Amino acid sequence: MIKNIINLRDKLEALLLIQENFHNDGKVADYIPALAGVSPKLMGVSVATIDGNVIGAGDHQIPFSIQSISKVFGLVMAMNRLGDELWHRVNMEPSGQPFNSIIQLEWEKGIPRNPVINAGALLVADVLTSHFSASKLAFLTFLRKLAADENIFIDNHVYQSELSHGSRNAAMGYLMKSFGNIEAEIPEVLSHYFTQCSVAMSCQQLASSLLFLANKGIDPKTNNTICSPRDAHRVNAILSTSGMYDQSGEFAFSVGLPAKSGVGGGVVAIVPGYGVICSWSPPLNRFGNSVVGTNLVSDLAEELGLSIYH
Ligand code: GLN
Repeated sequence: MIKNIINLRDKLEALLLIQENFHNDGKVADYIPALAGVSPKLMGVSVATIDGNVIGAGDHQIPFSIQSISKVFGLVMAMNRLGDELWHRVNMEPSGQPFNSIIQLEWEKGIPRNPVINAGALLVADVLTSHFSASKLAFLTFLRKLAADENIFIDNHVYQSELSHGSRNAAMGYLMKSFGNIEAEIPEVLSHYFTQCSVAMSCQQLASSLLFLANKGIDPKTNNTICSPRDAHRVNAILSTSGMYDQSGEFAFSVGLPAKSGVGGGVVAIVPGYGVICSWSPPLNRFGNSVVGTNLVSDLAEELGLSIYH
């Protein structure tokens, strides 16, 4: 593992240099118009360790749209609030389909394949909307507490953009409601879901805020219990099998870490017992995963021997 922190910063800088031109291999998400305006050349990486170091390089302090990385936080909140009942309403199987696919929902009677594809995250958003009196505020408060940073904010421009281009997510919501698997009204569920996707955070904040997943549910910064060890295990298992969407198999094969991507270009990877890596670069591959972000996690995991399958 990483013994020398000075060396780690040098290593991260070296890895960024290698990636300098690889952003050309991807395309910035434009189906949410507000995301299309972000520079494809930005890139950063941070590593937070459970023993208290946070090391970064490049644009690691610039906030970006966390998008589907928010699904991890929403899932933890829903697991804490609903307990095992959640798993009667959402499955824990990889989907093998694009993140916003609707096709399995009809076959599988409105039960999403897993909580980190859009259908599953909408189900989780329904749980939060129905079980918190002010779910958006609760979500933001949770993130601020985890990152120990009151400045984390919702990017309203991104929120409005998602809201006005959210027909596919709305369709999934209504389909699940037709099967009786959504309690709240769909506009409320969508509003919560788009709010959590529109949160802006930096690599540094994201890496630090997810440390509890590398530490059996306990935030090492505060010693607060964020979730049970069993639920930390379950979240990591779901991220290993589904966090990189229909590239999850390849990612497990070549990298071997629980991870989650977002169409804002962020990738987080959990290294149990050690810490969290977060990388960011907006251009995406055809699966909706950041090209450079994925390369950075992959290269670092390879160099430091971080795979959980060793
Ligand atoms: N807000 C995005 C959507 O619903 C999130 C998708 C993602 O990051 N993969 O399409």
